[in-house]
Amino acid sequence: GKVLVTGANGYIAVWVVKNLLDQGYSVRGTVRRESSIPYLKDTFKDYADRLEFVVVPDITKEGAFDDAVKGVDAIEHTASPFYLNAKDPQELIVPAVAGTRTVLQSAQQYGDNVRRVVITSSCATVLTGDVVPRTFSEKDWNEKSVKEVETKGTGALGQDMYRASKTLAERAAWQFAEDNKGKIKFDVVVLNPPFVWGPTLHEVARAEDLNTSMLDWYNTVVKGTRTEEQLVSISSSWVDVRDLGLAHALALQKPEAGGERIIVSFGPWNWQDWINSARKVEPSLPAGKSSYDPKDAVYMVCYITEKSDRILGLKCRGMDETAADIVKEFKEKGWIQ
Ligand code: NDP
Repeated sequence: GKVLVTGANGYIAVWVVKNLLDQGYSVRGTVRRESSIPYLKDTFKDYADRLEFVVVPDITKEGAFDDAVKGVDAIEHTASPFYLNAKDPQELIVPAVAGTRTVLQSAQQYGDNVRRVVITSSCATVLTGDVVPRTFSEKDWNEKSVKEVETKGTGALGQDMYRASKTLAERAAWQFAEDNKGKIKFDVVVLNPPFVWGPTLHEVARAEDLNTSMLDWYNTVVKGTRTEEQLVSISSSWVDVRDLGLAHALALQKPEAGGERIIVSFGPWNWQDWINSARKVEPSLPAGKSSYDPKDAVYMVCYITEKSDRILGLKCRGMDETAADIVKEFKEKGWIQ
C-alpha cells in the first residue's frame, strides 16, 4: 500500500517514513518547502522507487491536501508546530487544528482509497499538570491548558499554548470522525506519545537547530544547563523515537486500533536518570546531582500503556539503549567532544 506522511521532514516523521519503507510500503511525504526534499531523497536513496514528495506550502488552507491524498491507502498526519516560546497561542492552534481538519476533509473528498488516518497527537492532551504524582490513561483529557489559553491569551505559558494546540487538534479529529460517521470510508487512530527522544535522522545543521525535545536533551545532558534541583524535580514519561515510528506503522496494521486513542510510552524519567544513563557510555559528560539515589525518585507523570501493549503489541527500548545511541550520534557529529 501507499501511505501519505505529512510533515515528512520532522524529527518523528522521518522515523515514521523509515519504518514504513522498511516494511515495504510506498510513501508520499508532504513538506512545506521544496528545499526540505533533497536531504530526504538522499537519506532514503535505497528506496527511491517507493518514495515521492509533494510540497504543501500552507496546511491551513482549505483543500491543501486534495492532491496529496489521491491514490494513498492511509495517512499519517504528523505536521504540527512544536515549540514552547510562542508569543500568541494562535500561532500554534491555527496550524494544529486547521491542519488536522484539512487533511481529514481532503481524505473524505479525494482520498477514495484511504481506509485509515493516524494522527500524531501527544500526551500533552492527556496530562493535567497537577503538582502531585499521578498515573494517567486515555480516559484523561487536558482541558486545563485550553482554559488557561482562553482566559490568559497571549499571557498564558508557552507550554500551555502548545498543549492547548494539541488538545484542540485532537478534539477536532474526533469531532470530524463523529460528524462524518457512516459517510467516511476510513477510521481514525490517535497516538499520544509523551516526551520523544532518540537519535535524529532528519536534517539538522547544528546542535542548536535540533527539534524542541532533542534540544532540551542536548542542553541538559551535554551542556549541563540545569540546576541540581531541576535535574531531579523535572520529570515525566518518554518513548524512543524509533519505537514511536514503529507504532505509527503498527497503527495502520491493527484493525482493533480503529477509533482508539493510544498512549505510546516506555516509562518515567527525570533528567538525572538520563544523565546517569548517558554517563555510562560517556563519563566526561556533566555529572549533575551526584548525591541522587534513584530509589528516592518521585515521578510526577506516569501512563498506563495497556492499550499500546494489547492493541499494538509494542515493545519499547529502555533508557540506557536510547541514551547510548544519542551519545554515539552526537559524538559522530562532533556535538560531544
Ligand atoms: P519537528 O519540529 O521536528 O517537526 C514538526 C513538523 O511539522 C515539521 O515537518 C514541520 O515542518 C511541520 N510543521 C510545523 N509547523 C507547521 C506549520 N505551521 N505548517 C505546516 N507544517 C508545520 O517536531 P516533532 O517531530 O517532534 O513533532 C512532530 C509531531 O509530534 C507534532 O505533532 C508534535 O506535536 C508531536 N509530538 C512531539 C513530541 C516530542 O517530544 N518531540 C512529543 C509528543 C508529540 P517545517 O520543518 O517546514 O517547519
